[in-house]
Amino acid sequence: MNQRTAEEGRQFYEKILELMEEHHRFIASAIPLIASENVPSPAVREALTCDFGNRYAEGWPGERVYAGCKYIDQVELLAIELAKRVYNAEFADVRPISGVVANLAAYTVFASPRDVMMACSIPHGGHISHGKSKIGGTAGAVRGLEVVTYPFNIDDYEIDIDVTKKLVQDLARQGKPPKLFMLGASVFLFPHPVKEICEIAREVDGCVVYDAAHVAGLIAGGKFQDPLREGADAVTMSTHKTLAGPQHGMILSWNKYAEAIKRANFPGLLSNHHLHAVAGVAIALAEALAFYGEYAEQIIRNAKTLAQSLYERGFKVLYERRGFTESHTILVDISEFGDGSAIEKRLEECGIIVNRNLLPYDLKLGRNYMRPGGIRLGVQEVTRLGMKESEMKYIAELFKKALMDGLPAEKLRAEIAEFRAEYQKVHYCFSSLTDAYAYIRIR
Ligand SMILES: *Cc1c(COP(=O)(O)O)cnc(C)c1O
Repeated sequence: MNQRTAEEGRQFYEKILELMEEHHRFIASAIPLIASENVPSPAVREALTCDFGNRYAEGWPGERVYAGCKYIDQVELLAIELAKRVYNAEFADVRPISGVVANLAAYTVFASPRDVMMACSIPHGGHISHGKSKIGGTAGAVRGLEVVTYPFNIDDYEIDIDVTKKLVQDLARQGKPPKLFMLGASVFLFPHPVKEICEIAREVDGCVVYDAAHVAGLIAGGKFQDPLREGADAVTMSTHKTLAGPQHGMILSWNKYAEAIKRANFPGLLSNHHLHAVAGVAIALAEALAFYGEYAEQIIRNAKTLAQSLYERGFKVLYERRGFTESHTILVDISEFGDGSAIEKRLEECGIIVNRNLLPYDLKLGRNYMRPGGIRLGVQEVTRLGMKESEMKYIAELFKKALMDGLPAEKLRAEIAEFRAEYQKVHYCFSSLTDAYAYIRIR
C-alpha cells in the first residue's frame, strides 16, 4: 500500500474514534427520553466486547455445526433458562438478532404469504414491522401478508373490540379470516386487550402474537400485563428498550410451537446470531430477575409523575382521563409550539433528546409522520440512572423553560449538564463501577 492511502486510512480511523468519544460526552450530559432506548449495565457492555462476538454457532446449543462453542453453548442455555424463568414461558428462543427479526420469525410460523394479519396502524401506536406493503412494512412488503388494521377508539386510545369482532366476521365471510392477530405497539400507553382478541381469534382459528418490544422490562418486573397468561400464542420482543439489555431480540412461546419457531430462526432467518449479544441478554435477564420488580415500578411512577407535571404546566399530555399512561411512555401534543420535527430539534439543542411522533388524530388534520403534532417521551433510561419523582418534576420544568419560556439553548444545555453530573451510574444491576456512558478504550 502506498504512503498516501495509509495516511488517509489513519485519518478516517482517528475521525471515527473521535466521533464515538464525542457521542459519549454528548449523551452523558443530555436528558435521554427516547422511549425505545436504554443504557445497559456495565456487565452487559462487557459482554458486548467479549470474544463471543467473533464466533459462529449456527443451530441450537448442543447441536451446532461449528466447533469451539462449549462456553458459548452454556451461556446460551442459561439465557434460555433465564428467559423461561423471568417470563414464565414453556419455550424461549434467544437467537433473533432484533425485534423485527423476531417478528419475521413469528410471521413465518403463524402465517403464510397472502394471509390476512391484524395489527395496530402507525398513528395508533403500531410499529412499521407490523405494517402494510404499501408503506414498506415488514409484514406486508417482506412476508407478503395482507395487513388489516384494528378499528381504534382514539378517545380512549384502545382497540375497539366490538367493531373488530364484526370486521373479523366479515373477513371470514369473504373467505379471508385473519390467520395472525398482532398486538403490542411502539406507543404503548396502556395494556392491550389480549384476552378479548384471543377470543375473537379462536373463532376463526387464528393465532395471537404479542410484540413486547417496548414493555419487556415492565413485564419482567411483573408490572404490566402478562400476555402468555392472557392467552397469547407467542411473545416477541427487542431486548434493549425497557429490558435494558443489548440490542437483540427474543421469542417466547409454548412447547407446541417450539420446533416451528426454531426452524423459522435457523435455517430460516439467521446464520450467525450475535453470540456476544446473547451473553448480554442472559446478563440483563439475571438483572431482571433480581431488580426489575423495583425498576418497573419506579418507571411507571416516574412516567405518571412526568405526565402530571407537564400537564400542570399547561402541556397537552394525552389521556389525562386514563391517568396518562400505565407504562414508561407518554404522548404530548406540542402542535401549539411547532411541528414535531422542529420541536425535536429545539429540544436537542437544549440537551433534551426526544422523538417526534404521530398523534392518533394527526392524519385527519393533514399532518404527516415527518411533521407530526406530537412527541413521545419514555422515562426508562432516566429511571435507570437513578432519577425519581422529584427529578421528573424538574424535567417538566426544563420542558417549560425550553418550549414556553424560550430560554437560550446554551443556557439550558449548561444547566442540564450540571444536573446530569449526579446521575452517571446505572442502577438496578449487580455492579456499577464504570459510569453509564464511560467511553471504554482498549486499543
Ligand atoms: C422497536 C420495535 C420493534 C423493532 O425492534 P428492533 O429491535 O429495533 O428490530 C418491533 N416492534 C415494536 C412494537 C417496536 O416498538
